Amino acid sequence: MPTRKSTPAPPSPRPLVAAAREAATRAHAPYSGFRVGAALLTGDGRIFTGCNIENASYGLTLCAERVALAKAVSEGATDFRALAIAGGAADTPATPCGACRQALAEFCPPRMPVWYAGLAAGSARATTIRKLLPHAFALACTRGLSAAPGCRMLSHTAEGSPT
Ligand SMILES: [Zn+2]
Repeated sequence: MPTRKSTPAPPSPRPLVAAAREAATRAHAPYSGFRVGAALLTGDGRIFTGCNIENASYGLTLCAERVALAKAVSEGATDFRALAIAGGAADTPATPCGACRQALAEFCPPRMPVWYAGLAAGSARATTIRKLLPHAFALACTRGLSAAPGCRMLSHTAEGSPT
C-alpha cells in the first residue's frame, strides 16, 4: 500500500492571537504607550513570541514581529506557518510596519497566513505575507536567478520551499 504524505492541519488563529496578546503584556512601551505582541508558529508546532521594546533613543526601538522573528531564527527555526499580531483597538488592529514586512518576507512563505487583532478584544482579520508586501525586495539569487552556493540559504525564502 502506498504511503501518502499527510498534510498538516491548517493553523488556527485563536491560539496564536492569544499568544500574541499574552506577549504584548510584556511590551516595554513607556514612550508611545502602544503595546504590540506577535506570535510566530513554526512547522514543528513551536510558537515564538515577541513584544515591542522601545528605547529612550527612539530609533533603537524593536517591533514585536522582528523580536519574534529574531528569537525563532536564533534558535534555528526558519520554517514558519503562521503569524499573529495583537495591537491597537479592536476595530482598527495594527498591521506590521514596512520594515517588519520586509523582514518577514525574508523567511516566511508568500502565502503564509497573518492574523491581526486588537490588543485586548475583537476578532482577528486575515491576510498573507504577499498581500502585506507584494513586491518585497530580494537580491537576484533570492528570485531563483542564480544557483550559486551562497544563494542556497536565501533561495528558499523567496518562494517558500527549498530549492
Ligand atoms: Zn515593525
